[in-house]
Amino acid sequence: MKENLLGLDAAGLERFFQARGEKPFRARQVQRWIHQLGEADFARMSDLSKALRDKLGESACVDAPQIVGDENTADGTRKWLVKVDGANAVESVFIPETGRATLCVSSQAGCVLDCSFCATGKQGFNRNLTSAEIVAQLWLANRILGVQRRTDRVISNVVFMGMGEPMLNLDNVIPALRLMLDDNAYGLSRRRVTVSTSGVIPGMDRLRDECPVALAVSLHAANDALRDRLVPLNRKYPLRELIAACNRYLEKAPRDFITFEYVMLDGVNDSEAHAREAAALAGRVRCKYNLIPFNPFAGVDYRRSSPERIRRFAEILQRAGLTVTTRKTRGDGIAAACGQLAGDVEDRTRRRSLRLKEVRA
Ligand code: SAH
Ligand code: SF4
Repeated sequence: MKENLLGLDAAGLERFFQARGEKPFRARQVQRWIHQLGEADFARMSDLSKALRDKLGESACVDAPQIVGDENTADGTRKWLVKVDGANAVESVFIPETGRATLCVSSQAGCVLDCSFCATGKQGFNRNLTSAEIVAQLWLANRILGVQRRTDRVISNVVFMGMGEPMLNLDNVIPALRLMLDDNAYGLSRRRVTVSTSGVIPGMDRLRDECPVALAVSLHAANDALRDRLVPLNRKYPLRELIAACNRYLEKAPRDFITFEYVMLDGVNDSEAHAREAAALAGRVRCKYNLIPFNPFAGVDYRRSSPERIRRFAEILQRAGLTVTTRKTRGDGIAAACGQLAGDVEDRTRRRSLRLKEVRA
């Protein structure tokens, strides 16, 4: 079988070339062709010898998944449905803003963790994406957006806030991150690449040691009883341990704070008492809060907090001296808002049974 070079980071590509008796600088040349120029055809890599181009054509490929859906909203948000195999599709969302543009990528098809307010969780877990499938989301987005040279950085930021829990797929997420940071590929700074986790502590420690990028933690509640209900993983990794892991992460993080994401669920976690609890927690770790108005989806009972309640919650945090941002709700019309990325669910029953099996295991 031909080896797909799209997901190989610098070290992986070097190993590939060395095994074929080629010099390491060939790996860097090919990496620039693939990621900076978006080239998938070895025959067009004009600074390689004809013999090497032929050899690559026989033993390797640059293979990205197919885009099977492309939707726009008036605010410029664009959602792509990326078909990763016959049964699975994941979503990537492009969010242009003044001064920057963010691509939100998926790391898994489905998710095993089943947070009670999340559409991906409801879908169950199907499989991990490969590093090629993760980096392909950025590669394809650049291609579709007509970026000539990746050094133009049309996409200035990447967030792992699409489908899946990145910390449960670090074997593939880390090579993809390394490519995003590599000057011979996308050259993004560590502060502009954010991994979001629901609090998988061993993963946080591993990422800190192997590839510390900006970290967002999905908090959603500042007491264990409520967080147990919203984020079931909290029963395994409760708040005290989570905060300790955040502090360990900060020793290596490219920013001196953790972003706490807090989904605003009407009457569930959005009272003034909850806000005071969240402010108190911030005394134990350097953090900023990002309030996310809940995005409803079919079959779920939660409602989005009113703008007034969100404003009040933010005000209490701000009075405590914290930095708070409230996420604009974008892409509503195309179900591209956070947590609505349920993908193309073809066989929900099978996925659900898969998820239950995983949880029991
Ligand atoms: N699994 C990771 C990353 C993907 S989810 C995590 O949980 O952090 C990205 C963010 O979207 C998380 O903060 C998640 O809690 C939030 N989210 C999930 N469902 C949502 C919904 N319906 N409305 C608003 N935010 C949601
Ligand atoms: Fe998984 Fe994140 Fe959704 Fe929870 S919020 S189910 S961890 S994708």
